Amino acid sequence: MENRQIKCPKARQCGGCKLQGISYEEQLEQKQKKTEELIGPYCRVFPICGMEDPYHYRNKVHAVLDHKKGKVISGIYAEGSHRVVPVDACLIEDEKADEIIVTIRELLQSFKLPVYDEDTGRGLFRHILIRVGKTSGQIMVVLVMASPIFPSKNNFIRVLRQKHPEITTIVQNINDQDTSMVLGEREKVLYGKGYITDTLCGKVFRISSRSFYQINPVQTEKLYQKAIHLASLTGKERIVDAYCGIGTIGLIASDRVKQVIGIELNEDAVRDAMKNARANNVSNVEFYCDDAGDFMREMAANGEKVDVVFMDPPRSGSDEIFLSSVVQLAPKRVVYISCNPETMARDLEYLTDHGYRAITAWPFDMFPSTAHIEVVTCLSR
Ligand code: SAH
Repeated sequence: MENRQIKCPKARQCGGCKLQGISYEEQLEQKQKKTEELIGPYCRVFPICGMEDPYHYRNKVHAVLDHKKGKVISGIYAEGSHRVVPVDACLIEDEKADEIIVTIRELLQSFKLPVYDEDTGRGLFRHILIRVGKTSGQIMVVLVMASPIFPSKNNFIRVLRQKHPEITTIVQNINDQDTSMVLGEREKVLYGKGYITDTLCGKVFRISSRSFYQINPVQTEKLYQKAIHLASLTGKERIVDAYCGIGTIGLIASDRVKQVIGIELNEDAVRDAMKNARANNVSNVEFYCDDAGDFMREMAANGEKVDVVFMDPPRSGSDEIFLSSVVQLAPKRVVYISCNPETMARDLEYLTDHGYRAITAWPFDMFPSTAHIEVVTCLSR
């Protein structure tokens, strides 16, 4: 296992990597202990699955643009503020993505294109977002701008592509709101298809700029394999993939079940999920754009039959409408994937108070150097 201690000179200013500078072994020990504290009261916690090489794993890289003494800078907001810490290279980000960001910043300077000023609302270029398909090698560049008018656009795109022929698509995103959200609603494809694809557990996934996609694909494969294994599928099941994003878990499980119902709130992600079903020739899957709780309540009210529920909610966890509907639908098994063991523990308390028993929990280190922990827990009725 990788146990170098590479020190990031920006760690203190940036604040993103709470465990930076601590040996990887020690990081894993801390995460194991935390998971045992939170999830241990419900079931046995297996040893955390770490990474072989815990650096440069992030496939999605964001940089905010600013200026300082007439120079364009790019980097990360210092934790809890809107002060930009200049960062050219980050130990957890994809290295090619970091290189492209530096090139774009230099091009903005040489093309004399104005960077947006959050205080005055003037200027044009706000953020750069890069998504990399780690297996496909495809790269998407998203230029987030305050207005659709892009001076010297064709020249800019031409030079950028010359310097980085590995870029497969470039998207202009318009964000004219005074907001902390990076991406706006409007988009224009400037080059290529407007999305990238990537392969996960043998299936191909289409990822657009605003869809959720796991940021560490190496660990995601291991996590999904474990989650699907824990469900003990026989081929006869009707399963729900709740909070399904672009449909990854349901599509990967689709060969091993009778039917998959995927539920996701983000419209772009649902569109990607439907296209992913077609691209992988999967015909036993249906995706719905809805609040997972509302949808499950409706299913329970209609007396539908569900054998297994996979749930993978955001950091805030699930809610009582969702959980009470699960209890009413009474699937044999619930496989709960979480990026926040604190909210997972809260939700496990509800499920174990209402007829479910947690069987085992498996932590995965999806976010080395940061304090975040991913856990999958299997529950049974
Ligand atoms: N299972 C997917 C996505 C997990 S992230 C994967 O592994 O890639 C959590 C997802 O829940 C996000 O796509 C988010 O858009 C979605 N989401 C958040 N709140 C939701 C809600 N109330 N109902 C349905 N989906 C929701």
